[in-house]
Amino acid sequence: MRMTDAATMTTPAVLILLGPPGAGKGTQARMLEEDFGLVQLSTGDLLRAAVAEGTEAGRQAKAVMEAGQLVSDDIVLAILRDRMAAPDVARGVILDGFPRTAGQAAALDGLLAQAGQKVTAAISLEVDDEAMVGRVSGRYTCAGCGEGYHDEFKQPATAGTCDKCGGTAFKRRADDNAETVRERLVAYHAQTAPLIAYYDGKGVLERIDAMGAIADIRAGLSAIVTRVSA
Ligand code: AMP
Repeated sequence: MRMTDAATMTTPAVLILLGPPGAGKGTQARMLEEDFGLVQLSTGDLLRAAVAEGTEAGRQAKAVMEAGQLVSDDIVLAILRDRMAAPDVARGVILDGFPRTAGQAAALDGLLAQAGQKVTAAISLEVDDEAMVGRVSGRYTCAGCGEGYHDEFKQPATAGTCDKCGGTAFKRRADDNAETVRERLVAYHAQTAPLIAYYDGKGVLERIDAMGAIADIRAGLSAIVTRVSA
C-alpha cells in the first residue's frame, strides 16, 4: 500500500477509532500508522506503561483497569495532554481508545481548538458484541514489537516466533480474560457508545463493518482516511 505524504495534508489529521474491546482498533491503528505516517496514540498503552513504571497515575489506574472499568477522566486527560505535546504528533494522530466518555470528548475538542484544529473523523468500527469476548480472550502480542496474535484466528507462521521481528517472547494483557471483557463491554455501552451520536451530530462520523477480514477492514479504512484527509 502506498504511503500518503502527510505533508500534503493541509492540517494534521485527528482521527478517532471508536469501538468496543476486540473491534480491532489497535490492529487497524498500527496499519494506519504504516499506510499514512500518522501516529497511533492509545490511552490503554499509555496507561499500561504508567502501571509498569509505577507512577502515581499508574498506581491509581491499575485496579480500575483490572476490573474492566474506566480510569478517571483526570488521569487519562493528564496522560493524553503530555503525549499530545510531543513533536511527532504534528504528523497527525489516530486516537485509539480515546475519547471514551463525554467529558473526554469535550476536553479533546478544547485541546484541539487551542491549536486551531478539530477532529477530522471519528470512525466507528461496527461489530457484534457476542463475538468480542472470544476475540479478546485469545489474543496476545509479541513482547518485542507489539505484533498482535490470537490463539484461534492468527498464530505466527512458525510456532513461538514472531512473524514480524523474529522475537520469541509473547505477552497477554491482565484484563484480556472473559470476565473482565464483559465488564469492559458494559463500560463501552454505558459511557463510550453515546459518542457515536456526538460525532454524528458534528458531521464527522464514519462507520465501517469491522466483522470481516483484517485486510478488508484495512482497505476500507484507508479509503475513508484518504477521503477525509484530502
Ligand atoms: P484499551 O487498551 O483501550 O482496551 O484500554 C484498557 C483499559 O485502560 C480500559 O479497560 C480502561 O480501564 C483503561 N482506559 C484506556 N483508555 C481509557 C480512556 N480513554 N478512559 C478511561 N479509561 C481508559
